[in-house]
Amino acid sequence: MPFWQGRVSLAAEHLLRQCAPLRLPIDLTRLAIKQGIAQIRFRPMPCDGAIEVVADGFVVHMQSTKEQLVPTSAVDSSALSVRQRFTFAHEISHTFFYDAARQPCKPHPTPRLLEGSCNHGAQRLLLPEHLLAREIGTGRRFDSIEMALDIASAARVSAEVVLQRMDELDQFKETDYAILTFRKQDDGGIVTTGVCINGVFDEFPSPTLYAPPAKWVWRIAPGLSTPNGAVHRSAYRDGWELVSRCVANEQSLGQVIAEGRLEMIAARTISTAV
Ligand SMILES: [Zn+2]
Repeated sequence: MPFWQGRVSLAAEHLLRQCAPLRLPIDLTRLAIKQGIAQIRFRPMPCDGAIEVVADGFVVHMQSTKEQLVPTSAVDSSALSVRQRFTFAHEISHTFFYDAARQPCKPHPTPRLLEGSCNHGAQRLLLPEHLLAREIGTGRRFDSIEMALDIASAARVSAEVVLQRMDELDQFKETDYAILTFRKQDDGGIVTTGVCINGVFDEFPSPTLYAPPAKWVWRIAPGLSTPNGAVHRSAYRDGWELVSRCVANEQSLGQVIAEGRLEMIAARTISTAV
């Protein structure tokens, strides 16, 4: 894991332990107060969020149509939108880059590394490993679109965040299984927004986030442009096929989720015969 992501991960684990016991959806208000975020200013602004150092702590600024300054304790984080929750968790991660006197830590990452690390921290704060283990269930693996959507709704996060987080947790990943999210752009194009891949799918070129789907994705999941849940099968190697399914997420406009798995052709024939 890159250096700054490692630092943020440790800080996130530490904060989660200090606020235990926690359950899904994570009470971000509790985490924020622990980190010295005393107030939240909702206001119209050109970005999703920001953090400001003030005399007695931090103030988090959050994009909103209405201007309002409230004590953090008055904010019910489970009532915020999924997007606002991610922003809130991202801004909490920014506090990890200040020392006890609220001075920026030295050394300090470059702005780009800082933002990436705070996104990484947000994923960890919103989806702690032990709570994911509980959601998935003992002896089970992360192996379906339905499970991804269930976790997203329990944790009040987007499916993209679930996939990005699960991709780091090899112990929960199903063998030879891939699940990806895509978003339709205003111009009609499609971009990849989340990737969790394992086994045979690691042999293909790794999909790039915020870029059009990789060629192999179109090949095995042609339903991407018309996501109707239909099962598509394509030959892989002798006796094996890649089975895919694409669905439109009703909860999130323009989002498509695709999954693919490796199946033995013989096994399917036998099970159909039985
Ligand atoms: Zn940021």
